[in-house]
Amino acid sequence: MSAMAATVAQCVTSFGAELAGTLRRGPIVDLLIRRLQDTFSPSEVAVALHHEDGRAGADLHTWPAGATDVAPLLDAAGEGGARRIEHEGAIWCLAPLMARRRITGAVVMRDPAGPFAPVAPQLLEAFAAQASVAIESAYLVDLYDDGRRSWQEIVDALALALCIVDREGRIRRANRAFAALVGAPPAGLVGRPWSAFLPPDWVSDVQRLLDAAGTGGEAELTTGDRTYCVSAVPITEGDASTVVVLFDDHTERRRLQDKLVQSTKLSAMGQLVAGVAHELNNPLASVVGFADFLGEIPDVPASLREPLRVIREEAERASSIVRNLLGFARKQDRQRRLTALGPLIESTMSLLRNPLMASRVESRIDIEPDLPSISIDPNQMQQVLVNLVSNAAQAIASTGRAGTVTVRARRFLDELAVDIVDDGPGMTAEIAAQVFDPFFTTKSEHEGTGLGISISQGIVREHGGRITLETAPDQGATFTIHLPLQEAPADPVREEPARAPATRLRVLVVDDEPHILHYMSATLSAWGHTVAVAQDGDEGLEAATSGEFDLVITDLRMPRLSGRDFFETLRRRNPAMASRLYFSTGDTVRGDTLAFLEMLERPYLHKPFSLAELRELLAAATARLPSPPEPRVSFGVSTDRDS
Ligand code: ADP
Repeated sequence: MSAMAATVAQCVTSFGAELAGTLRRGPIVDLLIRRLQDTFSPSEVAVALHHEDGRAGADLHTWPAGATDVAPLLDAAGEGGARRIEHEGAIWCLAPLMARRRITGAVVMRDPAGPFAPVAPQLLEAFAAQASVAIESAYLVDLYDDGRRSWQEIVDALALALCIVDREGRIRRANRAFAALVGAPPAGLVGRPWSAFLPPDWVSDVQRLLDAAGTGGEAELTTGDRTYCVSAVPITEGDASTVVVLFDDHTERRRLQDKLVQSTKLSAMGQLVAGVAHELNNPLASVVGFADFLGEIPDVPASLREPLRVIREEAERASSIVRNLLGFARKQDRQRRLTALGPLIESTMSLLRNPLMASRVESRIDIEPDLPSISIDPNQMQQVLVNLVSNAAQAIASTGRAGTVTVRARRFLDELAVDIVDDGPGMTAEIAAQVFDPFFTTKSEHEGTGLGISISQGIVREHGGRITLETAPDQGATFTIHLPLQEAPADPVREEPARAPATRLRVLVVDDEPHILHYMSATLSAWGHTVAVAQDGDEGLEAATSGEFDLVITDLRMPRLSGRDFFETLRRRNPAMASRLYFSTGDTVRGDTLAFLEMLERPYLHKPFSLAELRELLAAATARLPSPPEPRVSFGVSTDRDS
């Protein structure tokens, strides 16, 4: 090899070594220009890089800047191999930059001088080839970095926590959700063992999943109040050397599933309760009816008055419980009336006194004097009080020590406020924020449904009010029921029932319950009416078609011919009589029954009903009669009418 060839080879090699130090395109072009300056002392140098798709103009570097318009030279360099050409009276050397058999740019220099000038095109071509390889590598590195960055951005955007684990159990990569799950900075995870970050009681389960990676196994693991479904999948099928471990947060799904199960259970229970309550309606109708009936007898022996009063009150209480139970199954019309809150609170607390005492909870009542009465549904409001006071007692009992619940009623601006104050454990702000949510409970499955407060809030809202809460840990809790004083007018007060109309009516009563027939016929006869009875729809139809009645009162659910079929048949045979037919039923839970009754647009009796309600029906029915029946001769209650 000649001395010149050896020096050229050395020059090319040292340029190669220089390029190896960088993987960025800008510095590579700078190195190329400097190398050409050192080797040939040219008066001008230009390097152009093409776009990735081969179009010219991605990047142009000239030295000195903008001396000559080099565009035609760069074009010429791209069209052929390295050579020397004349341009604007000067000698230029040019060579293309090539990679993967494509032209990726060009390099040109003017007036090469010095010892290497004779071999300038060949040497320029060698430098260009080395720079091309380096530029291509830099491009591939950029591509790799871009891919890596977008992979990281995508996996970081996932809510699913994941980490990639190698055979030695070290984390290769992890996403932000994983870093948040283990509470460590993302940068501190890579290269460290996964087992150092996960909750200690997860380690054996996760190890088991890693050992069986790819077999579809899953584990449900919990930490704090969150539940994760964990699985492990090898990156390459059949090769468990690198495995992705996935942590899917199932907390919300779990909660929804639990709620669904709970509400399905509740709705089944609701149907059962409604069924039982409905069955109680008929016997209660007789008890309420007879108790009312006996209560109206003027000469009842003094010794029987007190037991009779108890029967009436207790029957009334049982009816109201049945109505409440049915109310759970069907939203009932509100039955509001002007109610004094003091006595309502007192009677509710007396109901609760025994269970409260059993939990070592003392109850206190503090009612501001002269509180105005308020238009509310007393049964519903009693339910709210029972819920809130029972919660307070349970909270106190959970502390294992005795305590006090105070129910305070006071006037507050244009509202009435009822505070239920307890000295129990109170609540954290986090729990307090959730107690109004349906299904939120901190009690065990058997103790709590999480519905008490939300149902109460619903009832109070229906009354135009709201429930608020003040509490802090170890400071007890105060729930306050706010009720507006200016409320919608109450339902007509039924305290003093209208007396029976002063007319003698011919009444047919149809019911399959003998006690109801007995009580109805006794009562109606006592009021001076003529009564006939029938035990089912068939008998009723026969009586109604053969006799003359001013009024027919019939049950709906009966064996053989139902009340509805009785009515439809009668309507075809004797429309005038059918227009004087009224229903009495305990079956107002079913939507189709209700729709049917409402479609008729005439009053109906809801079992169990009071004498006052029966009187109202008679009055309404009399008013609808085309010509008034004969005036009544006498009115009064006698004791010998067990017809
Ligand atoms: P449940 O009683 O069935 O849990 P609630 O809706 O009545 O449902 O109550 C929801 C939760 O509110 C209870 O589980 C309890 O954690 C909390 N809570 C209610 N009242 C009190 C109280 N007086 N003191 C402390 N916590 C209470």
